Formats: sequence, structure tokens, C-alpha cells
Amino acid sequence: MTESSNICSQTCLENQSIKTSEIDSQFKYELVKLSGSENFLKCFQCGTCTSDCPIARYSDNYRPRTLIRMATLGLKNRVLNNDTLWLCAACFKCSDRCPQGIEVASVIRVFRNLAIDTGCIPQVFKDQIGAIFDSGYAYKIPESRIKKRETQNLPPLPKCNTENLYRLLKNTKMFKKIQLYGEVPNGLKQ
Ligand code: SF4
Ligand code: SF4
Repeated sequence: MTESSNICSQTCLENQSIKTSEIDSQFKYELVKLSGSENFLKCFQCGTCTSDCPIARYSDNYRPRTLIRMATLGLKNRVLNNDTLWLCAACFKCSDRCPQGIEVASVIRVFRNLAIDTGCIPQVFKDQIGAIFDSGYAYKIPESRIKKRETQNLPPLPKCNTENLYRLLKNTKMFKKIQLYGEVPNGLKQ
């Protein structure tokens, strides 16, 4: 397979079968009512968003154009369960370049918000939010690093008031969704 045909198979839906049971015909109407994705149906699949996207340049799978196409076709679950959704760096280059004036980056944000609503939250974010509630840091600081700081005579890392954090974040949608779907990371069990 040539490089170009390989890319095509990943960026087009032509080689993928679609079952009618997968199609949610109301999904596009749901999207046009949401702030950020109002005009996504104007997409004529020119591919400018994908060709200018810095993430698509380095990822074999992330294609904003394809996500929009899938949404247009009503493939709601494929869009919301798509791990690549979370690769977008929100740089807004696609929004600046879209000839149809579609806020592509905002459409991706809408997809992410809906993914959270339906409980499609990647484990990495659950772990991250758990670590923040545990220590205030976005990831667990390994014991080896703490010891290394001591050997280098560096001061201990600052401690965070996690109670204040909990009060601040407990009403966020992501926190509630993580609780709702019963997958509560250690740091959130308080
Ligand atoms: S640049 Fe705009 S019109 Fe072109 S594929 Fe992307 S969203 Fe669709
Ligand atoms: S906002 Fe996201 S989809 Fe758009 S160009 Fe940047 S990384 Fe790509």
C-alpha cells in the first residue's frame, strides 16, 4: 500500500462499513443547536482543516474533517467514543482557514463536551483529575523524584490545600460525570 492510499483509508470513510443501526439521524440537529457547532453542516469536505492541522501532521489517525463527516452522517457513537477527539490542541488554525467559516476547533470542543456528558472520558483524564485531588499536582510525583530532590538539597515540593480544591471542583460537570459513571479515582474518594 502506498503512503497516499494508506492516508486515504484513514481519512475517508469509504473503506469503512456503516450499519444503519449506528446512525443517529437527530445528532446533526442536536449539534446545530449548540454554541460552537451551529454551522458545521456547511462543511463541504474540502480537507483544509486537516491539511493545516498541526496534530494531523504528526498523527496517523486524527482528522478533524473526518470527525465532522462522521457527525454529518449521524455516527454519534463513533464521534464521541473516538480517542483522537482528545488530541486536538485547540490552536484554532482550522477555524481560521475553513473556507466555509466553520469554527472547526469549537466543533471539536462541542464533541468533547458531549463525550463527557455520555461518560466517554479517557482514563488518562480520570487519572489526572484524581491526581489533582490527591496532591494538587496533575500527575503522581514518583517517590524516586522526591528522594532525588533531597539528595540535591532542593526544598520539598509545595503542598496543595486539596480541601479547597475539592470545594472548587466538586460542582464541575466532569467531576459529576466521573461520579455518575462510578469510576472514581482515588483522589476523588472523599
Ligand atoms: S475546512 Fe471547513 S469546509 Fe473544509 S473540510 Fe474542514 S470544516 Fe469542512
Ligand atoms: S484546533 Fe485542533 S483540529 Fe484545529 S488545527 Fe488546531 S489541533 Fe487541529
